[in-house]
Amino acid sequence: MSGERDPDVDISVVIPVYNERDNLAPLLAEVTAVLLGLGRPYEILFVDDGSTDGSGGVLAELRKGDRRVRLVSFARNAGQTAAMDAGFRRARGRVIVTLDADLQNDPADIPRLLADLEGWDAVVGVRARRRDTWVRRVSSRVANYVRNRLSDESISDTGCSLKAYRREALSRLVLYSGMHRFLPTLLKMEGFRVRETPVGHRPRRSGESKYGISNRLVPSFMDLMAVRWMKRRKLRYEVKDES
Ligand code: UDP
Ligand code: MG
Repeated sequence: MSGERDPDVDISVVIPVYNERDNLAPLLAEVTAVLLGLGRPYEILFVDDGSTDGSGGVLAELRKGDRRVRLVSFARNAGQTAAMDAGFRRARGRVIVTLDADLQNDPADIPRLLADLEGWDAVVGVRARRRDTWVRRVSSRVANYVRNRLSDESISDTGCSLKAYRREALSRLVLYSGMHRFLPTLLKMEGFRVRETPVGHRPRRSGESKYGISNRLVPSFMDLMAVRWMKRRKLRYEVKDES
């Protein structure tokens, strides 16, 4: 599921964007500062998921000013998993980092995430001190508990978008809508090694959250049932002999 590898790019940062106009310039500045500090060649792939608030125009301007920025624009909103998939398919780096466009993830965590990736296939962030409303923190905690119980999993915070992957791991996955919440499980099912690492979290400064209880609870429960089914039905066989 990832694009042609380009040896001139080490790190691909993939950022899904849906109506995040005022977050984009500060986000690019922060991510760029962190990546330049690492001194490794990189690209930043913004995927505009059909924004209607002028994010597309802002991204086009940002791209003009920096050739390490790439932009994919969807004809219409297709959802966060689709936007991430489009980024993964185009990423040319050896490693792929994802984060949200709303500045809630702290780009300063990227170097540690990459250091922790050595020897692993994926590193997923755990938001140590969530800076969200009480309702969101509690519903996320319940969701993680139910998800882990029903899918026999042990991921503390699958809703944290700050994650890093080896490209080979992602290239084996086929994604469906909603599956961005289950990437660690899907990777483990393929035999990849996934670890967790604590990361920071910040309040959303501009724009609005795209999810609330109404559009997250039921769809993500259905997705959980699908993943549970996939896990149970995963082909398991051992070849004893062959001629
Ligand atoms: N997003 C997207 N398409 C969508 C919904 C969200 O690309 O249909 C992006 C959004 O712009 C953000 C990320 O996915 O960069 C996570 O969304 P949000 O911050 O609203 O989720 P929350 O942090 O509230 O769970
Ligand atoms: Mg957010």
